[in-house]
Amino acid sequence: MTTSQNDANAKVDAFLKRRHQLFIGGQWVDPVEGETFPVYDPALGQEIAQVAKGKAADIDKAVAAASRAFESGPWPKMSPSERARILFRVADLIEQYGDELALLETRNQGKLLAIARFAEVGGSAEHFRYMAGWATKVGGETIPMNGGGDWHAYTLREPIGVVGAITPWNFPLSMASQKIAPALAVGCTVVLKPAENTPLTALRLAEILQEAGVPDGVVNVVTGFGSDAGAALTAHPLVDKITFTGSTAVGKTIVHAATGNMKKVSLELGGKSPVFVFADADIDKAVEAVAGGIFFNSGQVCAAGSRLYVHASIYDNMLKALAGAAQSLKVGPGVDPTSQIGPLVSAKQQAAVLAMIEEGTHGADLITGGKRVGDTGYYVEPTIIANAGPQSKIMQDEVFGPVLAANSFDTDDLDVLAREANNSIYGLFANIWTKDVSVAHQFARKIKSGTVRVNAMVGLDNALPFGGYKQSGWGRESGRVGVEEFTQVKSVAIQL
Ligand code: NAP
Ligand code: MG
Repeated sequence: MTTSQNDANAKVDAFLKRRHQLFIGGQWVDPVEGETFPVYDPALGQEIAQVAKGKAADIDKAVAAASRAFESGPWPKMSPSERARILFRVADLIEQYGDELALLETRNQGKLLAIARFAEVGGSAEHFRYMAGWATKVGGETIPMNGGGDWHAYTLREPIGVVGAITPWNFPLSMASQKIAPALAVGCTVVLKPAENTPLTALRLAEILQEAGVPDGVVNVVTGFGSDAGAALTAHPLVDKITFTGSTAVGKTIVHAATGNMKKVSLELGGKSPVFVFADADIDKAVEAVAGGIFFNSGQVCAAGSRLYVHASIYDNMLKALAGAAQSLKVGPGVDPTSQIGPLVSAKQQAAVLAMIEEGTHGADLITGGKRVGDTGYYVEPTIIANAGPQSKIMQDEVFGPVLAANSFDTDDLDVLAREANNSIYGLFANIWTKDVSVAHQFARKIKSGTVRVNAMVGLDNALPFGGYKQSGWGRESGRVGVEEFTQVKSVAIQL
């Protein structure tokens, strides 16, 4: 082990041993009811920390702090360039503490250390940097009015206010960053409720935000359960917007809860994203990307390419190559640099994935995988199920595990293929593999999903709007539209 790894290990061990409190108004405080809950290391199935169990009364305090910080604090009134400077500093600090943050994420979430380094630490730092740039560029416009008379009319883009951010367990640090960075860029204040399984990097992020100079109350972190802390946040009358990533079922609950004060809601929900491989595709590249697109992060990716459609002429070869790729992946703990696929996040998720595999193989072919690996830790073999019916659960339901459902097609009719692609309640992401640019463009237009990638693996970019058609969500994250989601437009018209 290198010195820096030893150092990171020691820091993470020390962090885990701490008393974990709630971060409210710039202070670390115990939850009102004084309860805690355990979090686990998914590679070992062992408890690694006890975390404060925030509930409605704690959410109340955190929202009050965020509301004070918005109404009378310096943050929304600060010059955009000052806010930007602080956000750039957050990005630098995330990188400075990168070894420690990555290891902490791996210990708590299970993911490969390399993914934690690249996607959580790198992704978060770059998100803060990208959004820091928008702080100085978001503004309104002057508009010529149509109704007659002499007017000077313009729009203001104002911060929406207090933001409730609720995040899932698949990319804990980067999801928190993806929500906090744009909110802060435009002058909002935030209460974050991280997933109960993976609250630890959010607590560390709170310290980093404070160290970077984010004023007290601007970001508050309340760890706890969705059913109480999460529900209290979504229903709170002083919260102006909820930004949520997670399941479609909880997304619907949030929409209902938000009606009390008609808070704005943006939702990044589930997916069952199709991948189409045409006969002329670069097969080697496609195999690598399809395997990566479903097995990356053990399949716990909202945009995972989980429904594969391959032209009949290359189907058998492609399945064989994919099965080989799946079998060659070394399953193991995220901290082991030789591991190629880590455990699932929890015993519950492991059981859910195994149950979906079991049910998914009825009336279909199990090509490879299907079982848990070992008896400690939450591992599931990379799995491929072929030729399930279009209405079967394995073709319709989000698994959120390393499970690919494969099928073939033998038509060139893009409308027929689009009906297949669009045979889903979801519409988050789609992948097309072809060398024919005309087919690529035509098909991209016919698919009902927020993102289409051609000849490249599933992925996100902080400059590119990301979000769902249909039941994959409301609104977009990233890019200009992603930051504008945290603003509202005011029209001002002056009769001259
Ligand atoms: P989830 O329940 O939707 O969790 C997402 C977040 O919402 C968590 O912080 C959760 O808290 C919170 N939450 C739960 N119930 C809530 C409520 N009534 N009001 C407000 N917040 C609430 O997802 P999950 O249970 O962790 O995973 C279930 C399935 O969701 C997965 O198998 C997968 O299919 C899907 N999922 C999708 C994504 C995505 O990126 N689109 C991410 C994660 C999961 P708790 O942690 O306490 O539940
Ligand atoms: Mg849940």
